Amino acid sequence: MRVIETVAELRSWRRSISGTLGLVPTMGYLHAGHLALVQRARAENAQVAVSIFVNPTQFGPGEDYDRYPRDTERDLVLLREAGVDVVYMPTPDEMYPPGFDTAIDVGGITARLEGASRPHHFRGVATVVAKLFNQVQPDRAYFGQKDAQQLLVVRKMVRDLDLPVEIVPVPTVREPDGLALSSRNVALTPAERTAALSLSRGLFTAQDRYRAGERDADVLRAVVSEHLAAEPLVEPDYVSLADAETLEELTVVDRPALLSLAARIGQTRLIDNVLLGDESD
Ligand code: AMP
Repeated sequence: MRVIETVAELRSWRRSISGTLGLVPTMGYLHAGHLALVQRARAENAQVAVSIFVNPTQFGPGEDYDRYPRDTERDLVLLREAGVDVVYMPTPDEMYPPGFDTAIDVGGITARLEGASRPHHFRGVATVVAKLFNQVQPDRAYFGQKDAQQLLVVRKMVRDLDLPVEIVPVPTVREPDGLALSSRNVALTPAERTAALSLSRGLFTAQDRYRAGERDADVLRAVVSEHLAAEPLVEPDYVSLADAETLEELTVVDRPALLSLAARIGQTRLIDNVLLGDESD
């Protein structure tokens, strides 16, 4: 496994390989969710590259850029075990050299949900993902359904800009008790960890109600909100039940939909979601 830190070295490696290349973009502090993306990429491509870059431009002022967990040595052990060919770890200066001043703004869907709570977040995400695509030039790139809106934003950017990469979605990996894996879970105290279970429990309970025939979006949102409200440590940010493509809020769930939420628990902000009306329903 090669570890590459510069665009120049990455380009020369890219020119030297043949066969398809799969890319898994991450911010490191890897867990089984990231490794599910890596396994999928490994199964579908001759070469696999994983990027580790905590992207400063997608964090707002006062967000957790400085506190974001990092453990490169452990990440490299896990990626070597997973059979990755290249780990690309640019420094912030390599990614954003002095004078860097260009951004990609994906329209429409970026104003909603995470975009409403975190202005400029998706500009940072789209710009760094576009740069990673240009630097690595993958045939396929793997993204988790856990960050459902990010997946939509990346897909729209690829479509709108004719980027020659196939975006592959990977289902959310969860702890046995339902909590979605996240690098940020490490910051939860035991009491917060227990309270955090209300996120997935609320989503699953609403999903059960949907499967039993409930189609009133307000009723389904309320099921989630009630679970969150029952935990004093949980401070909900939003609960959304929206069209799975446009993210427009629904009144009646009469098409594939994304039930998603964000909540603050102590210092930690977590997101989670389930799809309603996809193949599994
Ligand atoms: P991050 O390092 O949090 O930026 O995540 C890197 C990639 O891993 C993104 O495409 C995420 O959606 C994906 N990911 C993070 N957590 C999970 C999870 N629990 N299950 C599946 N994919 C995940």
